Amino acid sequence: MSKPKFDLKPVQQLSSHSVLIWRIVQAAVWLIGAAILFCLLFFPSIGLLLFWNILIPVAPALLVVGTGIWRNVCPLATTNLLPRHFGLSKRKKLSATQLGRLNLIAVIALYAIVPLRHALFNNNGIATALLIISMAVTGVIAGFFYEWKSVWCSGLCPIHPVEKLYGGNVLITMPNAHCDLCQNCVVPCPDSTPNIHPKSSVKTIYHRVSGLLIVGGLPGFIWGWFHVPDEKATTALSALIGVYEMPLLGFATTLVVYWILSIIIQPKFERRLIGFFAALGVSCYYWYRIPALFGFGSFGDDGLLINLRNELPGYCIVMVTITAAIFFFYCLFIKKQNNKSWLIRPQFADKQGRMKSKLSV
Ligand code: SF4
Repeated sequence: MSKPKFDLKPVQQLSSHSVLIWRIVQAAVWLIGAAILFCLLFFPSIGLLLFWNILIPVAPALLVVGTGIWRNVCPLATTNLLPRHFGLSKRKKLSATQLGRLNLIAVIALYAIVPLRHALFNNNGIATALLIISMAVTGVIAGFFYEWKSVWCSGLCPIHPVEKLYGGNVLITMPNAHCDLCQNCVVPCPDSTPNIHPKSSVKTIYHRVSGLLIVGGLPGFIWGWFHVPDEKATTALSALIGVYEMPLLGFATTLVVYWILSIIIQPKFERRLIGFFAALGVSCYYWYRIPALFGFGSFGDDGLLINLRNELPGYCIVMVTITAAIFFFYCLFIKKQNNKSWLIRPQFADKQGRMKSKLSV
């Protein structure tokens, strides 16, 4: 099996000792995920706090710094890859068109699900748990049929478009702790391609549209999302529709701006433009999320972790959010592309899917 042209990094094979350590870490993080799921079902106030106000707020910054860390330990990925790890997968491969379609579905799912946090998920532990369980069931079923991360982690997962946007210039690269050998199941492999971004692949119309929607639309979508309060008990259909209005308004605005800019700028600056929109999106997220976590939000207790309003002067929070924005713009827009991938590709398998070196012994 030939190396794809995107692979510019040396391969790295984990020793059995390193595999054991990664399995322990994955099991530990999986147990934390299972505990959060248990709390969401049976102690919803604790589960909602742990999931929406601790785990999720950390995620965007983690993706900017080291997307590969999350790709190696994500409990959902660990669950979905179990059939492959245990040799129960049929290991089918997707065509470029199929993968493009999954990527587009992932982007649409992201924009469809996130506004529902205001109407449902932020205040309903069982609904949040069912959302997670439904994603795990989908991923596990896919894992029984398709090779490694192709269908879920690099295809259908609604977080994956955000990984590709924010993970374009990561600071940390690490070994791939899931794929024992590279079966070339996704081309380009998002884990192994240096400075991957949502427009790295333009093979089909689905790839192109999904890239455009996530790069252009996400910053405005985030801005709009933070201008909607949580509905404490939504029953009316109008309230359900209402939670989409501001995010979609913001989405459309930045999408049009990005689209115009991407037409008028020279192609050599397109990567820079993507980095700018990525930095804008993640900075906007923390601009609103950090104040809300510490009691300085616009909508009372929405998204509150701990209320420091009486302990901290407001300018401290402003300084933290400005520092965060400077950091994200530095990483994603100002800093030179560092030729790092999220993970280091394992050795390529031979045509029978086995390790090449073992055959030559
Ligand atoms: S490293 Fe290889 S096997 Fe693993 S997800 Fe990437 S392309 Fe697929």
